[in-house]
Amino acid sequence: MICNNLSVNENNHLTLAGVDTVEMAKKYGTPLMLMDEAKIREKCSVYREAMKEYFTPDSMPLFASKALSFKYIYKIANSENIGIDCVSAGEIFTAVKAGFPMEKAYFHGNSKTDDEIRFAINSGVGHFVCDSIEEVSVIDEIAGEMNVRQKVLLRITPGIDPHTHKKISTGSVDSKFGVAIETKQAYELVEKTLKLENIELMGYHCHIGSQIFEYDPFCDAARIMLKFIADTKEMFGFEAKELNLGGGMGVRYTEEDPEIDYAANIKGIADIIKELCAEYGITLPKILMEPGRSIVADAGLTLYTAGYLKEITGLKNYISIDGGMTDNPRFTLYQSPYTVLLANRMNEEKDYKCTVAGRCCESGDIIQEDVLMPKPKRNDTIAVLTTGAYNYAMASHYNKVPKPAIVMIKDKEDFVVVKRETIEDMISNEVDF
Ligand SMILES: *Cc1c(COP(=O)(O)O)cnc(C)c1O
Repeated sequence: MICNNLSVNENNHLTLAGVDTVEMAKKYGTPLMLMDEAKIREKCSVYREAMKEYFTPDSMPLFASKALSFKYIYKIANSENIGIDCVSAGEIFTAVKAGFPMEKAYFHGNSKTDDEIRFAINSGVGHFVCDSIEEVSVIDEIAGEMNVRQKVLLRITPGIDPHTHKKISTGSVDSKFGVAIETKQAYELVEKTLKLENIELMGYHCHIGSQIFEYDPFCDAARIMLKFIADTKEMFGFEAKELNLGGGMGVRYTEEDPEIDYAANIKGIADIIKELCAEYGITLPKILMEPGRSIVADAGLTLYTAGYLKEITGLKNYISIDGGMTDNPRFTLYQSPYTVLLANRMNEEKDYKCTVAGRCCESGDIIQEDVLMPKPKRNDTIAVLTTGAYNYAMASHYNKVPKPAIVMIKDKEDFVVVKRETIEDMISNEVDF
């Protein structure tokens, strides 16, 4: 199967990390997000160890927590001794509540509000990653009021277009994120930032996109960023101490997707960076990377209960499920591929083609089109694989559907880490009249 934490047991049921998914669906109800803690930890350690070995000893991965943000995830990140990136007061608050050491947090976002900046400084967030001179100036002012000198990285757009979906590509010159080298605005940003009293410029950040399988775009980004470090050293006498290469390494959603050797990629990127540092006469900076998807995606799967089968004679079949775009909007947004399995009948022939349709009042609410599976029937358990990233994090209340529960599996024990929302929870902010 697409990930080594999946298997089939003697009842012909799909298992995740050795636990029967059909039993989990019965025990906790559906839709249910099931997660394998060992897989999350394994991925954290692959990044952590490779980065320590191939870059400097203080180099480390930051879990891009927008991919999946709840207290237990930050607890895992902390015990795995890695950093995090956060994009909102909400993510910062959740990490603080989990006891995460916030000096290892990097605060991102192209639209940080004054309140969020204050909140982040008060929470002891180590670094801000800034997108523009306007933003750095606001942080400088607020940091001054609060009597702190705030460490920042500047987000630079290296002008790279990795071959990924347009909506998840961020490194090209017309991106809404960061400041471009091409237009020379990046140099201006460095020059101006260096003059600010309450800002300590630590280095640069870039992020070229997401779900990238080739490793060349990362190498290209590293080359451009090293040249930028060398140029700005020469121009302003400032040598970056930190270089953050962003996230973006792909994961397998289907059998067609290649397997990625993350450690080998990191080594390849490190070789290029070390060579260029020697060539330009600069000290190897502390390197950061921000994997999100590749840390949590294949640790998770979503279980649904099948509803009704609609057969349109000569045209198409639909099987409805008890979830959909409210817990996984990724097909609706990007036509994302997924592997779908009939978890309770894993031994049967996959000879029936049907589209897995969500429950919302949108024709676009589809989880996957034209899947081959045994002919589904009401109350079958349908598993959608590799849903650990950007599913729960993107969940909504459309059609007033509550968010699912998240159950973690650790050493074959299952326990709830996020409770299923109730319909009462959903109206808890509504004022009585
Ligand atoms: C989305 C994002 C990431 C994580 O990307 P993945 O593809 O999930 O690894 C990291 N850094 C930034 C700035 C991002 O926007």
